[in-house]
Amino acid sequence: MILEIVKYGQPVLRQRGSRIEKVTPALNRLIDDMFETMRATRGIGLAAQQIGHAIQLTVIDVTEITDRPSTLHLKGQPADVHEFMPLVLINPELKPVSDPASGPEGCLSFPEIYADISRPESVEVKALDRAGERIEFRCGGLLARVVQHETDHLQGILFIDRMSWETKQELKPQLEELQTATRSTIKK
Ligand code: ZN
Repeated sequence: MILEIVKYGQPVLRQRGSRIEKVTPALNRLIDDMFETMRATRGIGLAAQQIGHAIQLTVIDVTEITDRPSTLHLKGQPADVHEFMPLVLINPELKPVSDPASGPEGCLSFPEIYADISRPESVEVKALDRAGERIEFRCGGLLARVVQHETDHLQGILFIDRMSWETKQELKPQLEELQTATRSTIKK
């Protein structure tokens, strides 16, 4: 089922997600719906907040992106990124393991808005998968960027919070317009 993606201006995007204690059949159905929604909108990552649930859950799939490389290490060994997709992260914890690099980002909750964001180029990730099993990996490039963007969502942090002051000033009219449009739909 394709779910409605909430846009900037909806308070749930600013809520910290609660930790997930148990992977239930209902949660697995939600995960399937999140993948369906993400693919229908040609996204590569979707956080639970973006479909109105403040919980520590995100889905990711960078398979379709061929012009921006990703790296993956499992148990210290290089691994195939495509075989690791699609990726479900529950209660993710990140540790930066390199210096920041700047790269372009968009967000399904901010249609038509793009900006360069500086983030660590690679991170170590600990999380649970959709079976409730612990997973650990190190990733770099696009995958690291997506993992960080989505994990931010789970803490109520948005990519506009990571923009430079200048970029945010430039985008201010578009951001205000989007926020106003979203708020007008909430009142109805
Ligand atoms: Zn986003």
